[in-house]
Amino acid sequence: MDIYDVSRLIEEHKVRTVKVGGADLDGVYRGKRLSAEHFLAGAADGFPQCDVVFGWDIADEVIGSLPYSNWDIGFADVNMRPDLETFAIVPWEDGAASVVCDFDTEHGEPLPISPRFVLKRVLEVAREAGHSAKMAAELEVRFFREDQESLQAKKFDDLRPLNPGYNCYSIHHASIDEPFIGHICRMLNAYGIPVEAYNREHGAGMYEINIRYADALRAADQTMLYKSATKELAAQMGGMATFMAKYRDDVDGCGGHLHQSLWSADGETSVFWDEARPHSASELLECYIAGLLTTMPEFMLMYAPNVNSYKRFVPKTWAPTNMTWGIENRTCALRLISGSPSAIRIENRAPGADMNPYLAFAASLAGGLHGIEKGLKPPPPTKGSAYADETAGKLPGSLPEALALFRESELAVRYFGQEFVDQYVAFREWEVEKHRRAVTDWERRRYFEMV
Ligand code: ADP
Repeated sequence: MDIYDVSRLIEEHKVRTVKVGGADLDGVYRGKRLSAEHFLAGAADGFPQCDVVFGWDIADEVIGSLPYSNWDIGFADVNMRPDLETFAIVPWEDGAASVVCDFDTEHGEPLPISPRFVLKRVLEVAREAGHSAKMAAELEVRFFREDQESLQAKKFDDLRPLNPGYNCYSIHHASIDEPFIGHICRMLNAYGIPVEAYNREHGAGMYEINIRYADALRAADQTMLYKSATKELAAQMGGMATFMAKYRDDVDGCGGHLHQSLWSADGETSVFWDEARPHSASELLECYIAGLLTTMPEFMLMYAPNVNSYKRFVPKTWAPTNMTWGIENRTCALRLISGSPSAIRIENRAPGADMNPYLAFAASLAGGLHGIEKGLKPPPPTKGSAYADETAGKLPGSLPEALALFRESELAVRYFGQEFVDQYVAFREWEVEKHRRAVTDWERRRYFEMV
């Protein structure tokens, strides 16, 4: 797609506004709404954006002390350069389109801490090794009959789910919700994000919506846009959506399982497939699994980036707790799915729905590539419940633990770059400290009367 195609679409669809933005460190789509004329005039050069989008936390509190974007530098501009391949008409908003941007420095170089650039870096390593990557994130999401004001008024507690029962996979319950969920899926399809399947999940108001796999960069863009679109569409229908990894401690969490496969550079032939071997898993696929497994603890910060992410890792809740892999085994961290050359893939079950897709994809691919480069061999696959496996290494159980491992990771520096690692470590140190100081409802209920 070039600027002429874009301007034709703008004319054809009577677009007045273009949403221009990219992923911040949390994976939130942030940017500006531009008039169509202004967008067309500046699309080739890009648009200025205050660099604070990389300098505050998820609650928009300015951190101030990060290596990049801080008071000393004076919060200058970065340049949002639209990737015109991502230009799309927004079907649920009259006269609107959207585009995903790369962030550049004032000198026109890629901003090294931008999550989209971090993924591109790892994709470049794959390309140099003769590979391309295809991915899909399966995000679970919970819907509520609430709005922004009612959430605040209720202090995010005692919320009314879209539907009250569990009813996982129940066809008639999903049909009852069809005016709501079906509308979201139809809009996503019309937006260019192909929905393969969706179903009631294991929780009140909970759904899983599967997007068809695509080249890794496109898949990450689609995952970010899907989250943003789902929130917008739910709000248009009087609802709210959350992708929190664990919304309450007494219900299942929301996974963000990451399906991935490696192909020849032209994307035509899966290098994971070898019919002569058990489960048709090539030797290279075994190395990929081994690399993913060994790097999982040090890269966990990029799969589970929030304090809340770690509350999801509870045995027998479909979330992994240890460094295991298995063939069609949903109790392991990695599930091998075979079947055909186009379908053979690894499902990384560690990421939650709260992940930043660019960073989780980058970490997963980097882990696999590391395994291939070093010719690593995986342990035998887990048979039966991985939760019962006492010998497998444990995954980090909290944000501080994951942060400590990431801070020491040489592989993180190699694959994601020193600038990104420094920024992300400082960014997560802030989050850990914020949480350390927070006094919660749980503490009041537990200690108020008794201590
Ligand atoms: P579940 O874990 O819900 O059973 P599935 O096994 O049905 O999920 O996997 C569905 C996801 O896997 C979809 O998003 C689909 O597009 C994706 N997928 C299928 N083939 C590949 C592949 N070769 N590479 C990456 N993802 C793939």
